[in-house]
Amino acid sequence: MPSLFAKECQKSVRLQKYEALIPRIPLNHPVLPEVQAEYKKWLAGYKGEKSLVFYLSMLPEAKYTIFHDLRLHLGKYFFQIDYIILCSAFALILEVKNRSGEYFFEKNLNQATITNNGATERIKNPVTQARLQAAKLNRWLQEHGCGELPILFLFVNANEKATIKLAPGTEPLLRNMCNSEGLLEKVSQIQNQYKEDKLDSKEIKKIRRLLLTNHTPDDPSLLNRFNLTEQNLLTGVQCLSCGYLPMKYQRGTWNCPSCNAASKTAHAKAVNDYFLLIKPTLTNAELRQLLHINSPRTANRLFHSMELAYSGTGRNRVYFYKNKTTAVKTTVVT
Ligand SMILES: [Zn+2]
Repeated sequence: MPSLFAKECQKSVRLQKYEALIPRIPLNHPVLPEVQAEYKKWLAGYKGEKSLVFYLSMLPEAKYTIFHDLRLHLGKYFFQIDYIILCSAFALILEVKNRSGEYFFEKNLNQATITNNGATERIKNPVTQARLQAAKLNRWLQEHGCGELPILFLFVNANEKATIKLAPGTEPLLRNMCNSEGLLEKVSQIQNQYKEDKLDSKEIKKIRRLLLTNHTPDDPSLLNRFNLTEQNLLTGVQCLSCGYLPMKYQRGTWNCPSCNAASKTAHAKAVNDYFLLIKPTLTNAELRQLLHINSPRTANRLFHSMELAYSGTGRNRVYFYKNKTTAVKTTVVT
């Protein structure tokens, strides 16, 4: 039995990188507020997408397959889609926004603005964005030899504090937008309108496989993005209770000088942060520098506890990041 979500709503690598980076920027570094502001935007977007899972989960899994956050290659560029809802009769694209304020859709030039706390800013028209993605997905499916399928699109406002207003003459846009709580009703309207099966179960499986195997996660270097170098970042193991950096390693346990918390596994997050922010390999010497430990034997023991893949022997051994979507595992070292 196939599950409803072929690709679940999960935090992107980009978000994981922000979460690794922020605690490692010294508090007095001038770039920190900008990094925090960017993180807040990405996090709000993710929370908006996540909030839709509640509604999407109510769709019958025998009929629908849902993909969250697909990034596909078309021509020279990538395009990204927040959600695709696929069934035998159509595909529906969701462009999800989670901004507070008042959206206003103008008649001229299809412009859209958002007004928040008295300030009005022009934004990319989310309906136009969704329409473009639908066109791109259509082309992408054609290029991959998939059958013709109606591709519909919706801008979904996931923010309960946002209101949407339309200028006279832009009412047709209403067909392509809704608030979260109106999503299921929209899906059932579309379902009633597009009843004819265009794909059989074999073709749906093929599209599912193609979408999943061609998905290319965005993997930006945040150090480049914010003009930071490895030397700008704080090293050490962070206390998972209070955030203090660095914890001290004493007889197999990480101790926090600030809140006295103790942990046997707190180093795993530091290693994960390193892989996310710096590079996907680590040597014994690099690990010691990262964790503030002196003994190569201790470093070896910690490497073993994390079950990382490695190659080479002795001083030349390097350890690898196995999978960007799963954090480094750890077993307790005693
Ligand atoms: Zn602490």
